[in-house]
Amino acid sequence: MGLYSEELIREVQNRADIVEIVSDYVSLKRSGENYVGLCPFHSEKTPSFTINPKKQLFYCFGCGAGGNIFSFLMKKENWTFPEALRWLAERVGVRLPEEGTWGKVSEAFKLKREILEINKLAAEFFHHNLINTAEGKRAREYLANRGIISETVEKFFLGYALPCWDGLIRFMRSKGVGDDALLKAGLIIPRRDGKGYYDRFRDRVIFPIKDITGGTVGFGGRILDKGEPKYLNSPETAVFTKREQLYGLPVVIKKGGASIILVEGYMDCISLHQNGFTQTVASLGTSLTEQQAKILKRYSEEVIIAYDADTAGQSATLRGIEILVKEGLKVRVLSLPEGKDPDEFIRTRGKDAFAEQLSSALDFVDYKLDLAGRGLDLRTRDGKIKFIKKAVSVIAGIESRVERELYVQKLSEELSIPRQALHEEINKTINKTTLPNIGLKYKNSQLRDNNKELTRLKALSGFHKAERDILRMMIEDDSARDKIMKNLTAHNFVNAKRRKIAEMIFEMVKRNEAVTPRGISLKLKDDQAAAAELANILMEPGNIDNGMVDALINRVKENYLKFAIKKIRNEIHQAEKIGEVKKAFSLLSTYHRLKLEIEQLKRDSSRKGGTR
Ligand SMILES: [Zn+2]
Repeated sequence: MGLYSEELIREVQNRADIVEIVSDYVSLKRSGENYVGLCPFHSEKTPSFTINPKKQLFYCFGCGAGGNIFSFLMKKENWTFPEALRWLAERVGVRLPEEGTWGKVSEAFKLKREILEINKLAAEFFHHNLINTAEGKRAREYLANRGIISETVEKFFLGYALPCWDGLIRFMRSKGVGDDALLKAGLIIPRRDGKGYYDRFRDRVIFPIKDITGGTVGFGGRILDKGEPKYLNSPETAVFTKREQLYGLPVVIKKGGASIILVEGYMDCISLHQNGFTQTVASLGTSLTEQQAKILKRYSEEVIIAYDADTAGQSATLRGIEILVKEGLKVRVLSLPEGKDPDEFIRTRGKDAFAEQLSSALDFVDYKLDLAGRGLDLRTRDGKIKFIKKAVSVIAGIESRVERELYVQKLSEELSIPRQALHEEINKTINKTTLPNIGLKYKNSQLRDNNKELTRLKALSGFHKAERDILRMMIEDDSARDKIMKNLTAHNFVNAKRRKIAEMIFEMVKRNEAVTPRGISLKLKDDQAAAAELANILMEPGNIDNGMVDALINRVKENYLKFAIKKIRNEIHQAEKIGEVKKAFSLLSTYHRLKLEIEQLKRDSSRKGGTR
């Protein structure tokens, strides 16, 4: 067995709620006795990721991922079992024995924990500087001038980096944290002369960046006065990957479902939160990445882009639209008056005005059309032609034919141009560029889905179904279990994953343990394929008719015999080939015995079938 007692592991599992933990990663909706959401392990548009809270198992009917809470964390975070256990134990407040018991926990995991620990200390130090020190006065004034109230300072745990070269270094030394560790956390920089280090963040307002599990993964720092760079982020570390982080996300997740407002900067983000727009995230100053879009997709159907209204903001918006639309998100764009960012807007015009802007945010196509018309005089022939050229390429990019038609109608009325003419232009563009690509992509994913469905159906047919149903009965129906165990052994399951599950059940019964989904799933912690199979079996909808138990037992047995006969026939063949006559003969007698057995079985089941 592993490093921890079974009782301890069970205690952690019992205290953790799979729905609550997974909610950090996936936006879940109740559906009957289950919860469903978009699978975090494969890309999909309709939810096939399912959690059963009663059984504490998850299963994705799209990609076949499944298991218990440990399986989920191991797969999602790429952790080993001890790593997932340790993390979960901390989360639910179970104390695991320290030191020496780390055993198989990897170096990488230890490093991550160490950095998170240091970051937490650093965040506290920065926060203390802001609130309690004389040096922090300038930063306090800066925030006050920007209308940030103390409640927001606390909520985002804002801080201040002292205006000196070694403020953090000295503080950390007093806590016993050395330079090596600080370097790994990205908080200090080696001096050019090679002698020692200096603080990365100096004289800046500090925004701690948290990941969805609440750990401080990095920092952003904003300069107080003029100077470059205006914003400074932590470098990439073992816990911080900039392209995968979104500032403000941990707060947003708890809201669930609402449209997400995407802004550029930390100040925009906290200012919007302060004014009640708590579904706001910031893309950490960099332009939006594919990974960030994928994360957003997990929490909402729609994103409203609210970048600055300057030229840089516009091109960032256009890039953002492309990335978000590609991930299948609905996208709208907030148009602020020239030169304003959301923070400024809300400070000067108030939150009601901002709410109004939000509700009238343009669909991204309208936004692009609006942009295409800027600076053109549509009353002139020249202006019209230029505009149509741009508009056509925008409309050609819309995938839905119906939607395209709506825009053609609108445009044709506004510009008094026949629809037919617009259609011709649009079709030309489509044929030239978009169609072959989109067509191919669609076909491939369609094909993949069909294949998946086919494998699924195949898996459910015949003996597969019999083995699955028998296992489910063994878990859910005590009286059926007794009968099954009298007639079958774990050996009789041909499929290796199901054989493993059966072995565990037999073992549990022998040891007088209660046979529960949770219990079995724990025993399968070293065989994640079997754990997924278990989740799949138990999450199949509907009940199995108890009266089927005899027929199912025979079916499983018959299949086992068929399989064994086939195997032994091959062995006989091999033995004859290399001239081992003696061995061939002894195999032959086994072969005959199995043959007799299967014939007997067939006679039995047809007799039983006749009387029923
Ligand atoms: Zn999946």
